[in-house]
Amino acid sequence: DVLADQIAAGEVVERPASVVKELVENAIDANSTQIDILVEEAGLKSIEVVDNGDGIAAEDVSMAFERHATSKITTREDLFKVHSLGFRGEALPSIASVADVLLETSTGDEAGTQMHIKGGQVIGQSLSAVRKGTDISVKDLFFNTPARLKYMKSPQTELANISDIVNRLALSYPQIAFTLSHEGRELIRTSGRGDLLQVIAGIYGVQNARKMVKFKGEDVDFEIYGYTSLPEFTRASRQYISVLINGRYVKNFQVTKAIIEGYGSKLMVGRYPVAVLNIKMDPLLVDVNVHPAKQEVRISQESQLQDLITKVIYKELSKENL
Ligand code: ADP
Ligand code: MG
Repeated sequence: DVLADQIAAGEVVERPASVVKELVENAIDANSTQIDILVEEAGLKSIEVVDNGDGIAAEDVSMAFERHATSKITTREDLFKVHSLGFRGEALPSIASVADVLLETSTGDEAGTQMHIKGGQVIGQSLSAVRKGTDISVKDLFFNTPARLKYMKSPQTELANISDIVNRLALSYPQIAFTLSHEGRELIRTSGRGDLLQVIAGIYGVQNARKMVKFKGEDVDFEIYGYTSLPEFTRASRQYISVLINGRYVKNFQVTKAIIEGYGSKLMVGRYPVAVLNIKMDPLLVDVNVHPAKQEVRISQESQLQDLITKVIYKELSKENL
């Protein structure tokens, strides 16, 4: 149902950066180790994501474009211990309902599949090469929803949003090699060698990476690990604080706040640290099923976790001579 998909698209696909996010998350879920993102005209003309992941078997390709078809959740139980980034099965059908999408995918052990869908209509499906992985290209985003096109900000802003998303994903997955290029110009490249500080250096510069402090701590329920910036390296927004729970990028106001509180009174008003915080915990204690953008999470024993974070960061920053 194309109309239902377009309505869902209103929630899932707000702007080019949301398409990048959904496609890259799918590539991550598919166990890719290399993800290349190629963008033209800030994503409005074209967004292409090429991965070397598991690919989609020929018989499953059309399913992938059906609403609420996800290969990632099979039982109600699964919903309470989601390990993958996607699980709602809404992204591909939503994107395909408001753009011109060409998907080429192969699991590597049989002929691949090429599928072309425009504005929710299947234009064609055929066999393609066997290279293992998926190459998905999204052209003319919002071509059939002019009202949404009008909401787009300047190309610089849309591109900055895309860069932010890719930066965050790269910081979240140091073991994946990412590239982002805009009109042939490379904006981001990470090595995929797994060193978080190296990714930080690639994104914020080597100088700034030297201003990051490593922290690590645990209690009976949580393990935390990451980097957070010295008070001399801050930003005017909280969005440079990345939080990952069991490898999943999440948003949680209290956790972010706990990081900031670790600074005591060391931050200037309106300034926020740059940080990457990894949290390991029992997946049954996180509820990811709060919001369709599926980044908001609810955590049991949240205040215990907050205390741990604040304490560990405070202690680490106190060691530095500030
Ligand atoms: P979700 O990620 O919530 O499952 P999506 O609409 O994003 O839903 O994707 C639908 C399905 O298509 C996924 O469950 C997955 O099986 C498949 N898929 C999408 N992108 C890829 C990819 N890059 N590599 C392998 N499989 C993919
Ligand atoms: Mg997805």
